[in-house]
Amino acid sequence: MAVRNRGLMLIVCSTLLAVGGLSAAAPYHDEQKQLERMAQAYGLPLHGYGRFGALGLPGGKLIPYTATGKREPNPWAVSDIRGIFRDCYPLTNVRYGLKHRNTDPGRYRNYPLLMAVYGASAAEVRRSLVRVDFCGTMVLFSSRNGAAAALSRVSAEISQDPALLAWVRQLVRRDSQAIGTWNWRTIAGTTNLSAHSFGIAIDILDRSSAKYAYWRHTSGNEQAASFWPRFITHEKIWEPPSGIVACFERHGFIWGGKWYHFDPMHFEYRPEFFPPGSRS
Ligand SMILES: [Zn+2]
Repeated sequence: MAVRNRGLMLIVCSTLLAVGGLSAAAPYHDEQKQLERMAQAYGLPLHGYGRFGALGLPGGKLIPYTATGKREPNPWAVSDIRGIFRDCYPLTNVRYGLKHRNTDPGRYRNYPLLMAVYGASAAEVRRSLVRVDFCGTMVLFSSRNGAAAALSRVSAEISQDPALLAWVRQLVRRDSQAIGTWNWRTIAGTTNLSAHSFGIAIDILDRSSAKYAYWRHTSGNEQAASFWPRFITHEKIWEPPSGIVACFERHGFIWGGKWYHFDPMHFEYRPEFFPPGSRS
């Protein structure tokens, strides 16, 4: 993170302190900062200010900063903007979930927003998909909101590093299904659409590894799996080289390896977590 932007990141991430019990509530100004990050990241208009503000969607619908009386029907689906920023996405190279149980930075998604930006049905999303050359493998990604262009930049950067490029190519040589992008489907065990449905996520997985690549797989019982640190250590969780993670983050992608409910094969285009210049 560039030093000059550290203040901005602290503001954007202020709700982390609230979650951690260090602060009762985000200062008024910080709520406006989060709204501004959303407006900038998705090219949408703002209405109002701070906690009484809202993000405007095409067609006139508003997403409030704070939904009142909300009861979220599904895990990781939020009806307001505040929920998206509930957990701060860390730019440091940490295994976040090990330190913070149930901290899943970036896993909280506002579906009306994603549907308005990337498409509300499989057919609509499909019309905006373009082919992207990802390190020699052609994949489908959304051309909207700069997603495909960002993935191309990730690929270009990985391709400049012989060791990282060799790592990706070796995976694909061994397993033609090692890389996956667009797939209109729900998240396993939930009724939420996966980010893959919108053409903004890419999985890179070494299926020959015996390590865990998804939190639910740590136990046959989902309830037990949600307590995975009690019976497995971090060394048993699969992860890509840290240089791969850094390349994605530099271009606006979050990594599922930083979630308590870990999904380390998963990279997702979420530009709201990366203010311009926040990672160089
Ligand atoms: Zn994924």
